Amino acid sequence: MISVENLSYAFKIGKKGKENIVPVLHDINLHVAQGEIVAVVGRSGSGKSTLLNLISGFIQPEVGSIQLNGTQVSGLSESKWAEFRLNNLGFIFQSFQLIPSMTAYENVEFPLVLQGIGEKERKERTSEMLKRVGLDPYQAHYPGELSGGQQQRVSIARALILNPPLILADEPTGSLDSENEKELLTFIKELNRKFGITFLMITHDHEVASIAHRKVEIIDGYLQEGRKLHEVQR
Ligand code: ADP
Ligand code: MG
Repeated sequence: MISVENLSYAFKIGKKGKENIVPVLHDINLHVAQGEIVAVVGRSGSGKSTLLNLISGFIQPEVGSIQLNGTQVSGLSESKWAEFRLNNLGFIFQSFQLIPSMTAYENVEFPLVLQGIGEKERKERTSEMLKRVGLDPYQAHYPGELSGGQQQRVSIARALILNPPLILADEPTGSLDSENEKELLTFIKELNRKFGITFLMITHDHEVASIAHRKVEIIDGYLQEGRKLHEVQR
């Protein structure tokens, strides 16, 4: 599902011609099988978010290659990336990234609108998804009227609505209290078991890493492959 090969990345900061090169990732190799939950751990500043942003196509690598779900994505144009993302990737962020002026229902429905899906089908799929994440009673609420745990469930419902095979998450429980965190982790495990969804999750939290099949660590921009923690159930 994910195949990252010999990936290196450096930020260029400062004026053109006089840039400072800040190397962040060095020769990263990472392979994630379909149905795996892989946790990426590492200290703050070690390069975790940069790796996820490369895998998400939000920044482009100059060195190395990235394949996702059988497609060579490194080098894709901005519009091809946008299309690929919509069809293949779901995102969960620490800060939820919901659209504040849209209700829970409208946030979840939004990817279907982008996909050009007709109103009747949108309605069916959105309602079903809201039920699945237990948010049926809150569909008319705006993000500001929901708890952190509820907002994160809206963002997961939005991530899942187009049935992506791969979900990328950057500190998904970072803004949640421990009760909501447990609930979210149980939900992620269930999605993985029932639907075989692959998860790549950044975390510095041991609870989160504990649901992973495998843990990899980034130390100063170098990736260390960890040992297998759990077998993937199929
Ligand atoms: P982590 O997610 O592990 O905390 P990041 O990937 O966010 O780490 O950052 C890794 C390094 O890259 C840090 O030293 C950070 O300061 C630097 N960095 C991150 N984003 C940028 C940017 N847009 N421009 C320049 N340097 C950046
Ligand atoms: Mg980060």
